[in-house]
Amino acid sequence: MKRIVVLSGAGISAESGIPTFRDGDGLWNQYRFEELATPQAFARDPGLVLDFYNWRRKIVVDAQPNEGHKALVKLERKYEVQIITQNVDDLHERAGSKNVVHLHGEIRKARSTADPNLIVDLDSWELNLGDMCEKGSQLRPHIVWFGEAVTMIVPALKMAETADLLIVVGTSLVVYPAASLVVYVRPDKPKYYVDPKAYPVGGIQNLQVIQKNAGEGLSELVEELLSKD
Ligand code: NAD
Repeated sequence: MKRIVVLSGAGISAESGIPTFRDGDGLWNQYRFEELATPQAFARDPGLVLDFYNWRRKIVVDAQPNEGHKALVKLERKYEVQIITQNVDDLHERAGSKNVVHLHGEIRKARSTADPNLIVDLDSWELNLGDMCEKGSQLRPHIVWFGEAVTMIVPALKMAETADLLIVVGTSLVVYPAASLVVYVRPDKPKYYVDPKAYPVGGIQNLQVIQKNAGEGLSELVEELLSKD
């Protein structure tokens, strides 16, 4: 069975009502995300950082998977599909995708500030000061903050190396190391980039640029791939 690797970014969840970083509006416009998503920010003002993630988590909890997420699930009828997402939401899983790797963490989980391996599911959208892990330490969002290691990139790059086909969707391809994944797919393998602002990525061969929203672009692409021998 052919292996398809999908690299997704914030844009695939935009049609579900989850703002991308750069199009962010409202309350948090006054803050730079980079200044809230760091270990230093959490040390300085943990309540503010927890509030920021509570706000984002509530949006995710209330959101539903869209046609783009659902189209990728259909691909599993015929292909082995591995999703590598930069997103911290769980919309790929809720749509039904079986194999999802999160490069930047998962917003509906928390982890111990004392033991990074102690990870718990959050039942609600709230994580507050005083919410402790079983070892008695404050829980923090299970998110890879700026300046922290992206440990999941190691297995993700291996997956990219062995892909028969790559789909990149809803990402500006500016956040590293995630963006470097594209380079690891063999030059002779077909690659598709679905994003209204998709562009020919320098040095990448066999890349088809599809300047469409994820819902429409992925639905069409998936139909095409399913109809192939
Ligand atoms: P980004 O904000 O840099 O880029 C978003 C991309 O989505 C842009 O290229 C834009 O053209 C595209 N886009 C907008 N609407 C789209 C649509 N309807 N269909 C398809 N594409 C659309 O996001 P990024 O490249 O993912 O990287 C930034 C970081 O943002 C990542 O680290 C990610 O963890 C984080 N993030 C995640 C979420 C989430 O979990 N849903 C939301 C915001 C930010």
